Amino acid sequence: MREIRVLPTYLVNKIAAGEVVERPASVVKELVENALDAAATAVDVTVADGGRRLIAVRDNGVGMGPEDLKLAFASHATSKIADEEELYSIRTMGFRGEALASIAAVSHAHILTRRRSEADSPSANVAGCEIEAAGEAVHPVRPAAGAEGTTVTIRDLFFNTPARRKFLRTANTEFGHIVEALARLALPHREVAFSLTHNGRQTHKLPAAADLRQRVADFFGAELADSLLAFADEGGGVWLSGLIAPPAQARASGRWQYFFVNGRYVRDRLLAHALREAYRGKVEPSRSPVAFVFLEMDPSQVDVNVHPAKIEVRFRNSQLVHSQLLGSVRERLNKANVPAVSIAAGGEEGPEDDAHDARRQSLKQALADFFKSAPPPQQRLRFGEQETDRPPPYPTSWPARRDKEQPDLDAARPADTGRPSTGAPAPAPTSEGPGRDRSRFGPAFAAPARRDAIQLHNSYIVTGNEVGLIIIDQHALHERIIFEDLRRRIATGNLAAQRLLIPETVEVTQPDKAVLAERADLLARLGIEVSEFGPNNVAVHSFPALLAERQVPVAGWMRDLLDLLAEHASADGDELLTHALATMACGAAVKAGDPLTDEEIDALLARRSQVQQAASCPHGRPTTLVLTLAQLEKQFKRS
Ligand code: ADP
Ligand code: MG
Repeated sequence: MREIRVLPTYLVNKIAAGEVVERPASVVKELVENALDAAATAVDVTVADGGRRLIAVRDNGVGMGPEDLKLAFASHATSKIADEEELYSIRTMGFRGEALASIAAVSHAHILTRRRSEADSPSANVAGCEIEAAGEAVHPVRPAAGAEGTTVTIRDLFFNTPARRKFLRTANTEFGHIVEALARLALPHREVAFSLTHNGRQTHKLPAAADLRQRVADFFGAELADSLLAFADEGGGVWLSGLIAPPAQARASGRWQYFFVNGRYVRDRLLAHALREAYRGKVEPSRSPVAFVFLEMDPSQVDVNVHPAKIEVRFRNSQLVHSQLLGSVRERLNKANVPAVSIAAGGEEGPEDDAHDARRQSLKQALADFFKSAPPPQQRLRFGEQETDRPPPYPTSWPARRDKEQPDLDAARPADTGRPSTGAPAPAPTSEGPGRDRSRFGPAFAAPARRDAIQLHNSYIVTGNEVGLIIIDQHALHERIIFEDLRRRIATGNLAAQRLLIPETVEVTQPDKAVLAERADLLARLGIEVSEFGPNNVAVHSFPALLAERQVPVAGWMRDLLDLLAEHASADGDELLTHALATMACGAAVKAGDPLTDEEIDALLARRSQVQQAASCPHGRPTTLVLTLAQLEKQFKRS
């Protein structure tokens, strides 16, 4: 082994850069934070080539004198905390004193600054100065002319770390991350004016003294902003305020939840949990509420020194914070008279009713078509398994090859008479139930004389076999069936697309647009064609036929898809495709709350046997619950 050595400072900074500087957006975050800490009232961000070529942040804050500037690139040099005590009551965005040092270690960095003149010291006395650094080299401070405040310019990010540079995405995608980073800073700092310019074009111009709704509209569109409910509350030294969306606006991912603690964007499981609880019973479990939540508390009540990028925090009294948030949000939702349970399709009320009825009508038709298209039993395919004509012995005992929780529902279904062998060794009949002659049951779609499956609450199908009682989530099962269908179809080419007579516009954010551009191939495979349509919209020209036929709302579904693409930003094409198909299946499947006819129920159950993983939906939720006879006997104290 070699002897232990203390690493040179430059190398330490380069290693630290690995933590602090992940991509251009991280640089923007650190520089804007510094501007805010310097009490700027206007911050202008200019980037080129997604921030790879240039990132410049100009502020009108307090500026630095030459003595300060000399230390700006030094690691662990900060003006923000002086002793340990201050570390436990942080009021500034920065305090670690490592951002500028880390950034300079992996770029060509330049700072031009001039102290803000005070009323009692005329500005003529205050000179400007500049400093440069790149990789290992930090140059001496020089006098320079400039406006009051500070401009930090970063060029050629990662010029000396090719691995990092290679990892960067397209300029548009990196710019999308920059917009997101700026949103996280501009939402809580509404007293400050911001502007953002990319490749010479100004994309955002945010006036000072904006209200929250305006800032939300600036980043996420007016449509979303207008739908939000404002709330404010105080208790136990925690001030809560913000905007939350009605449950019907819930999205497919949690990325629409913004939490700020004392003006700092944080990601926090506790807060996310409280929010989810507040919406419990009001949104589908697979969807996440939209919320912009601001918490203010004494800085000593929250530890921000948990994570190098300061994105995680620890509350001294997490119980209190949790219950405050849950209570405030729930109260606000109740005041808005949101129905206690609105998990039925759409969930809207009032003027939407007609549209809703129309959708339901055409959904019914589409469903009828879908069920008619189920192949007759003889032609059914099981994937990767040999087909035989011989019907399997009637399983009367628990089929061991299956998950214990998921019994062979098919066993009890008359519809499955012609089901080919599963290829797995079929369990032998046991003495508990004699093998029955299945051939006396009619074909798959003839309604059985006696109903042995019923729909409850327009959501669940209840049936049974000799194993016990079986409860099926109609949405989850249908979703799985459609998913398998889509997967088979896409293996042989693109999905069928339907051209929209009138292109539909969808409100999107800047990052969303970048994602759409980057994932053009995937969209084409799904049968989706979009084009740019104004600064905050795209136009959808063609849509997957499956969804169009079922009147799935274009804008809503596109938003779900965008959430998914954003959430799996680093996923490869195949993985994303699988996710996208699952989202499609979810959109196309019958919903909880959709009434089904007896024939539809039978057809749904019959097709259950055709799919590979009928026991769970593509999102991994179970489709089926079972109460075995043994369990029933125990519950009823028969044994
Ligand atoms: P930190 O923000 O954690 O203190 P940084 O490396 O980001 O560490 O910045 C180092 C120091 O440089 C800050 O403490 C501050 O004194 C000074 N500084 C950086 N940016 C600015 C700015 N825009 N205006 C005034 N001073 C700044
Ligand atoms: Mg800083």
